[in-house]
Amino acid sequence: MKIPFNRPPVVGKSSEYMAEVLASRRHSGDGKYARMCAEWIEGVVCRGSVQAGTMQGHVASEASALMTTSGSHALDMAAWLCGIEPGDEVIMPSYTFSSTANAFVGRGATIVFVDVRPDTMNMDEGLIEAAITPKTKAIVPVHYAGVPCDMDEINRIARAHGLKVVEDAAQAVLSTYKGMPCGGLSDFGCFSFHETKNFSMGEGGALVVRRKEDRERAEIIREKGTNRSKFFRGEVDKYTWVEWGSSYLPSEFLCAHLWGQFEMAGEIVRDRLASWHLYYDGLRGLGLDGEGVIDLPYIPENCKHNGHLFYVKAKDACERDALLAWLKQEGIGAVFHYVPLHSAPAGQKYGRFCGEDRYTTKESERLLRLPMFYGLKEDEIAYIVGKVKEFYAGDKE
Ligand SMILES: *Cc1c(COP(=O)(O)O)cnc(C)c1O
Repeated sequence: MKIPFNRPPVVGKSSEYMAEVLASRRHSGDGKYARMCAEWIEGVVCRGSVQAGTMQGHVASEASALMTTSGSHALDMAAWLCGIEPGDEVIMPSYTFSSTANAFVGRGATIVFVDVRPDTMNMDEGLIEAAITPKTKAIVPVHYAGVPCDMDEINRIARAHGLKVVEDAAQAVLSTYKGMPCGGLSDFGCFSFHETKNFSMGEGGALVVRRKEDRERAEIIREKGTNRSKFFRGEVDKYTWVEWGSSYLPSEFLCAHLWGQFEMAGEIVRDRLASWHLYYDGLRGLGLDGEGVIDLPYIPENCKHNGHLFYVKAKDACERDALLAWLKQEGIGAVFHYVPLHSAPAGQKYGRFCGEDRYTTKESERLLRLPMFYGLKEDEIAYIVGKVKEFYAGDKE
């Protein structure tokens, strides 16, 4: 058997919609499908309703979504909208993708990394306050594996210190925290629709903003620094260059592809969660967890995740690498994940680790991700669980 790590979804009516866009001769940004995708995200994130029918809760109804060319670009825009200036400090976990930090480094900020919680691999909310200095401007929680951070506590700290909060919700589309959707829980939410995420447009993303003023500024940044969006709505009679900006509008083709998936979002998440639970129960059944052999993921109370990824943690880096090599040899596309940013050359140049690195390095070295995608089959999961079992059986002999 050969099982890749990821297989991006090609589902629903995507190809029909893309052909329609081709024929329409209207291919650039903010067309029909871009608007439908943005409204769908608003429905999910801002008002807490979803076709899947699993969400309650209510977030600021003023919140709105803008489609972007990537999750990285959504983060770039959020950093700009936070008003980050050279010399400012921004707090985030070191266990994340480079884009989380790049957005703020690009504005001249120093990154202050804090340790993760070993149970979720999310930033330890209990360590944030100690990292705050007079220069701190923002906190950037990352919902790793689509499992929400403790947003009540993070928002409380931010309010107490007058800081902005940017959620890196790249992996957390349709995850909820206390019934409220990730990406809509703070000042800004950043989603990714890269082909490795639950919903894919190849390369793409979205920015969620809470305030009307931010929406207006975001539109300008995304439209090459012009107020063209206002012009299209008839609010000004000509448009002009008003601010710094770039071009962050995704093409209509990509939005049409994404829309095909949004139409069956409930089904996609249900399928991924079913796979997640098959892994969890299967590996649990091996009796290796809690025995210091492997650790399985933990989902905090009041949090619902979206089955973005499934990981296990081996005893240490050495055993993780051996397990990885074994699974690869057996045709299974298992992979490790982030090398902590503070230990990378750019992380050393642009950031510092606050406090002790108790878990970030140690836990990241133990972590291994198993194949996870829409359409992963039950017998494929059984095969993978069986191979993990074989690995440890051999280990014991
Ligand atoms: C995928 C991802 C990003 C970047 O998204 P792109 O769409 O690839 O630019 C940022 N942060 C995290 C945590 C991610 O997983």
